[in-house]
Amino acid sequence: MNVAQRLYEKGLITYHRTDAVNLSEKAISQFRDYILKKYGQKYVNPTTRHYKNTAKNAQEAHEAIRPTEVNLATLETEDSKQRKLYELIWKRAVAFLQAPAKLKSTKVVLANNNSRFVANGVVTLFDGFLKITGAEVDEVVLPEMAEGEKLPNQGVNLAEQKTTPPPRYSDASLVSSLEKQGIGRPSTYAPIISTILARQYVEREEGRFKPTALGVAANEYLVKNFKDILSLPFTAGMEEELDEIAKGKLDWKKMMKDFWSGFEKEVKTAEKDSERVKVEAEKIGEKCPECKEGDLVIRTGRFGKFISCSRFPECKYTRQYKELAGFKCPECGAEAVVKKTKAGRKFYGCSNYPKCKWAGWKKP
Ligand SMILES: [Zn+2]
Ligand SMILES: [Zn+2]
Repeated sequence: MNVAQRLYEKGLITYHRTDAVNLSEKAISQFRDYILKKYGQKYVNPTTRHYKNTAKNAQEAHEAIRPTEVNLATLETEDSKQRKLYELIWKRAVAFLQAPAKLKSTKVVLANNNSRFVANGVVTLFDGFLKITGAEVDEVVLPEMAEGEKLPNQGVNLAEQKTTPPPRYSDASLVSSLEKQGIGRPSTYAPIISTILARQYVEREEGRFKPTALGVAANEYLVKNFKDILSLPFTAGMEEELDEIAKGKLDWKKMMKDFWSGFEKEVKTAEKDSERVKVEAEKIGEKCPECKEGDLVIRTGRFGKFISCSRFPECKYTRQYKELAGFKCPECGAEAVVKKTKAGRKFYGCSNYPKCKWAGWKKP
């Protein structure tokens, strides 16, 4: 967002805090002219794509993000982030008005007794907008075959495939999921993310959010005790009501009253009936060297993680926490450790620091 802000302030792109998905008529005709001159008639899309905004609380007062000057395809600047973001915006906007690519896909079904084998082929007939985006189609060219043809068996290879769980959210996938559910809006996505990080409900790990023990416990508690408020339709409905208030169609006092009466009841019930949740502290698999009874666990305090005895407060043993990364430092061979930037982003460093200064975002 900061990078986009700078591009906007320099007048290079249109207003960036928008979730509009269509361009203005004026921009469309400028972009079409550009494509015609630069790439020729076949690359101009004869019809304009019109998208419907799928985000529920779309604020479409602005147009979609685009470069203000179509002739400026690349940005001359030292700042590589600005250059890359600008190029991305430029390419998307131009590709939006380019002709669709034409792909030919073929599906071959081979029958063998009771088994069916399927082969899918795809070749590009015309690149269209792919010329600009630079995206490449993974072409699979199938050999010539005729219907009913008998194919010789050239042996069978068995390949084992595992299903993988869905990946954890990244910044981008979390925002896109919130958008689909109608929760939040462009101005609140960044604060949502900084809040869950600041409260230590999640940690960043290799670009993804990983829930902490505290995050898991808080989530379980809230979902159990505040079913309505934690439900997605409730939050989306609340956003809609806020929009109604903004438009002057709904009285905020009435809305707050309706919300409060239900919420207050739930809080009172939770205070009375629910048990305090114990956040399971992670054991490190070592006994406490002081009392020889407790297990050593990882706790999170004001200054980050530390190791302490599970029998705290009876036993007060603590020591500094060093999370082993599970591999050796590529420079000196000492154990690599997990560290964190001030912004809470994880990185790897050498346990031999400051003697060895190796550090990296990813496991080598
Ligand atoms: Zn102890
Ligand atoms: Zn090292």
